[in-house]
Amino acid sequence: MTDQRSVAIWRDGAAVAVPPDEPVVTAWDQGLVRGDGAFESVAVLDGTTPHLPAHLARLARSAVLLEIPQPGDHVWSALVGAVLRGWPAGTEGVMRLLLTRGPGEDAPPTAVALLAPVPAETIRQRDEGISVVSLCLGVPADFRAQAPWLLGGAKTLSYAVNMAAYRHAHRLGADDVVLTSLEGLLLEGPTSTVAWAAGGTLHTPPAETGILAGTTVARLFERAEADGWPTARTRGTVDDLQAADAVWLLSGVRGAAPVHALDGVRRGDAGLTARVRALLGR
Ligand code: PLP
Repeated sequence: MTDQRSVAIWRDGAAVAVPPDEPVVTAWDQGLVRGDGAFESVAVLDGTTPHLPAHLARLARSAVLLEIPQPGDHVWSALVGAVLRGWPAGTEGVMRLLLTRGPGEDAPPTAVALLAPVPAETIRQRDEGISVVSLCLGVPADFRAQAPWLLGGAKTLSYAVNMAAYRHAHRLGADDVVLTSLEGLLLEGPTSTVAWAAGGTLHTPPAETGILAGTTVARLFERAEADGWPTARTRGTVDDLQAADAVWLLSGVRGAAPVHALDGVRRGDAGLTARVRALLGR
């Protein structure tokens, strides 16, 4: 089987494509040592990155919150171009853009792009839906907005807790997670935004809860409004999800994954996933 993965790093003022298994950072890189950096996962569809601008805008916001110097959009454009070169248009891809503080001292930040095919399991979850468990993140819903050191709203490289939540869900026999605040308010998935349909409106939790501003929910809500489907930022609970007409976990690469079981209770989608998919274009 041919290796479809590709990698490029910004080095001496240029995007350099490197073999996918070649080391690109030193052991001193603060991204490796402390998870000190930010990243984006960008969908590659038909050989292009149609939603790249929204991801670059969020990466820039994460860099501000982390106080890491901005490499600038020209760096990301060059890296994206380098990893996309030769990519087969028929293969759906996941591109990761990584920005770390670099090795420290006066060294510049590290900027890397990686591209690989979307895993078959991700596509299965998009097509067939997911079972989800709710897990408490242990912070009050309003705390992160006044605690900049918690980096609410930044997509940092420190995803160890998010990945541990997945492993816990898998041990419970579920595919994914809805994280809740200390008071039981809905937050987000470890790598997704929660959305639900109820009372003729599409809902998602408000940004003040310190969740990541999802690019997919933003696109969906803009198109839904234009299509006459009202949207709202709503402080909801797991009970609201149980009572909803439909629930989805949204993210750029997986798209809209319909939730067919929540905390062991099976649920339907009232046929609304087709409308969400039509609005998202897939
Ligand atoms: N929330 C978290 C914590 C995420 O990691 C992600 C995905 O990257 C999202 C939400 C959804 O964001 P997007 O729709 O931009 O992929």
